[in-house]
Amino acid sequence: MTANIDAAKAALSHMEIDDAGPQLKTKSRDFFWYSPVLKARLDHVLGDFVVAPRNEAEVIEVLRTCHAHDVPVTTRGAGTGNYGQAMPLAGGCVMHMKNMAAVKDVAPGRVVVEPGCLLKDVDAACIEHSGQELRMFSSTWATATIGGFVAGGSGGIGSITWGSLRDPGNIIRLRVVTMEAEPRVLEFRGEELARVSHAYGTNGIITEVEMPLAPAYDWVEMFVAFDDFMSAATFAVDVANLDGVLSKIASVYEAPIAHDYFQRVRPHVDEGTNLVGLMVAPHSMDGFLTFLGRTQGAELIYRSDDHDWQKHPGPVFEYGWNHTTLRALKVDPSITYLQVRFGFPEHLEKVAKIREMFSPEVLHHLEVIRENGKAMFAGLSLVKFTTEARLDEIVRLHEEAGCMIFNPHRYTLEEGGRQTVDDRQLAFKREADPKGLLNPGKMIAWDDPEFGFETMYAYPKLKAAE
Ligand code: FAD
Repeated sequence: MTANIDAAKAALSHMEIDDAGPQLKTKSRDFFWYSPVLKARLDHVLGDFVVAPRNEAEVIEVLRTCHAHDVPVTTRGAGTGNYGQAMPLAGGCVMHMKNMAAVKDVAPGRVVVEPGCLLKDVDAACIEHSGQELRMFSSTWATATIGGFVAGGSGGIGSITWGSLRDPGNIIRLRVVTMEAEPRVLEFRGEELARVSHAYGTNGIITEVEMPLAPAYDWVEMFVAFDDFMSAATFAVDVANLDGVLSKIASVYEAPIAHDYFQRVRPHVDEGTNLVGLMVAPHSMDGFLTFLGRTQGAELIYRSDDHDWQKHPGPVFEYGWNHTTLRALKVDPSITYLQVRFGFPEHLEKVAKIREMFSPEVLHHLEVIRENGKAMFAGLSLVKFTTEARLDEIVRLHEEAGCMIFNPHRYTLEEGGRQTVDDRQLAFKREADPKGLLNPGKMIAWDDPEFGFETMYAYPKLKAAE
């Protein structure tokens, strides 16, 4: 099977196409470089052309054409994903969804939107329509698309109350186009959503998304300082468990993260400050402040609706989730990160144990999330990178300590996820992408069903550097 790039490009030439220069390079990359391991392996990756369909009919045309000419297709939202999710490992077509960004319908509790719409634009439309907002969004809210969030993300701001994207009810419906000689348009709800959500676009292209909404608030954003790290972590979980207080995020930053990496926060903290970043609904502030007053060692150093900071710190959520890593990387390029699950009910014990084992080589950055109704931690720990061998050892020691790792130094769905084959996604790929042309190299189960996960998977058809 040899890709006929020129024939595909010629057939699609009536659409917006980039096939050279900086645009092609930029659109072939995402935030893979957060990982020194992926940076070493994927830096050269380049698609052959970028095409930007304007509607579902043009998506079908792109897929039909690329199928006919055996051209791989890697879909791109805004390319803010980590893990190299949106990178065309085998070259070919990058299908950019930027021109499919319409908000089609807003109703009580739901929005129907095209996949290329930015998360911030979804929220703006829903707020204007009826004072509603997305239940959860990634901290790349200002730049990322809803389609990319559903296909590549996991959760984020809002997960403290609503859990993760994979939880039943957090996506209502997806409309998906298959990669066949004559592409089909399918609709998925309920149990079937797992086939294509968080599948990196390896088995279908999402052309319409229906998401649940919650009431929108002017969230009060805060930083609370603690001298003692475990007190900060305990406080963050306790806030999530306050039955009468509505919160949207609770992030915990081990000292000296706030001092060393948060430039606008730095004048207000010292090296020993452990910080908690929060968003609380305005009507919950009395309840929150009551609880804060009962908490030993907690000092409210910033609230967005009442402060005297000379330099506005910007949205508190842009310190959380993977923005913490970004801020650290800007100051110290040798920093990388891990994604860790500190599961209920031993979340606090595990955090304490890992801290004993690794601090300061690994600094805790925790996000409180809800899983099966229980508040616990997603860790996006900051790691001082030395060697790949040491990074692998840190991963192994976390796992031996009972912490699940979603390894951000791998580019496959399985290794970045739960290290198991998702049979539903694989079965749907067999049906929807029989030639294996969608986002190649990202699903091990497709390429090498016998792979044992002892070493890092190396996609054999990774396009070589030129
Ligand atoms: P892209 O990166 O363009 O794509 C992501 C994946 O989805 C790719 O595999 C792509 O092929 C696929 N895809 C895109 N559109 C479609 C489509 N229409 N149909 C099928 N497949 C498609 N993630 C979180 O979950 N939570 C966070 O809080 C978070 N914070 C982040 C902070 C920073 C600073 C960075 C760099 C990343 C963060 N991420 C986070 C990762 C990423 O930003 C989010 O997952 C984001 O929502 C991805 O959207 P995107 O439009 O950039 O998708």
